[in-house]
Amino acid sequence: MHISDRLKYFDSSDFQEVFRKQQILENPIDLSVGVPEDTTPKHIKNAGIEAILHDRTGYTPTNGLPLLREKIARKLININGIRVTPDQVTLVPGLTTGLLLVYMAILDPGDEVIVMDPSYPPYEHLARAVGAEAMKVLTLPSFHLDIGTIEASITHKTKAIIINSPNNPTGAVYTKKDLLAVAEIAERHNLYIISDEIYESFIYGTDHFSIGSVYSNTITMNGFSKEYAMTGWRLGYISGPPETINAINQLQQYVVFSSSAIAQYAALEALSHPFNIGTKYQKKRDIVVASLQESGFQVNGAQGAYYVFFQAPHQMTDLEFVEKAAEHNLLLVPGRAFSSRHGYVRLSYGNDLDTVKKGLDVIRKIMTGSL
Ligand code: PLP
Repeated sequence: MHISDRLKYFDSSDFQEVFRKQQILENPIDLSVGVPEDTTPKHIKNAGIEAILHDRTGYTPTNGLPLLREKIARKLININGIRVTPDQVTLVPGLTTGLLLVYMAILDPGDEVIVMDPSYPPYEHLARAVGAEAMKVLTLPSFHLDIGTIEASITHKTKAIIINSPNNPTGAVYTKKDLLAVAEIAERHNLYIISDEIYESFIYGTDHFSIGSVYSNTITMNGFSKEYAMTGWRLGYISGPPETINAINQLQQYVVFSSSAIAQYAALEALSHPFNIGTKYQKKRDIVVASLQESGFQVNGAQGAYYVFFQAPHQMTDLEFVEKAAEHNLLLVPGRAFSSRHGYVRLSYGNDLDTVKKGLDVIRKIMTGSL
């Protein structure tokens, strides 16, 4: 039977290989996964259970529970400085699905979106899947935004620039100065900025800046997966200009209908007791960076999220390094899953400290030739 051409934009073979290794290795030291070590806090789980027990399990309004949208709007105003009304907030079943809805709402076939390289793979693949083109701007090797190249990449087809700070896979946190420069460019060229802030609370020694606080044509995306360790509950949210959010809601009526009611009641509880998950990750970050540097790697980025993106040693490709690590039970992700440049490796320190230390030990031994 026929399978659409679109499927070629959903190639995930680099990750499939990691998943395959996850299955075949016994008790792997897993520094590949992008999930926090924590489990969903008990009071949030209980709120989900209560929702089920009290039959709050039906469809909700397409854009989400009004009280939850109010709470999110208040959070965006108070913490991020983004001036939005609750009607400018919509709930989605995870930020990733949300991105597809955003693209469907703002991109026509042939349009272009500017994406940093390296970046979270769906930015590029979903753009192509809706018939648009992802124009890549390298941030390698410093992982800073290259403002000049971003502006030079704009054409009459460009509709949006997508920004992700703190960043997956580099851990970079962009400076306020650079983000203001991007906002200024977007304003001058009448472009949207799509700002993926899912790692907002994983930030070490610097501050998070929401570009939506200074540029009203920003589509801010965030969610509950990482900050509240709720990856499997599938809930995210989008805020932005009223007509853009209305368009997304129009699409949602057919694509999603409504996000999980249970997850939304749990999220109401999550927002009632915000906590700082990032503190213990800072310690892990410090240990990872120090150890990689001792092993001879140069570490850039790593000011946030829980990733380090480092260059494989000269004589090895990213695939070879990842393969060598896997031979010693350590799982990493080859950088080519995120980048057109093939020499890098992504390490996630989302896992617990003991596991992270074991993984660092394998890397040190590979580098000293004792493995
Ligand atoms: N955005 C980035 C940059 C990510 O790294 C991830 C997950 O790894 C997501 C979004 C996923 O968010 P969600 O679980 O809400 O789909």
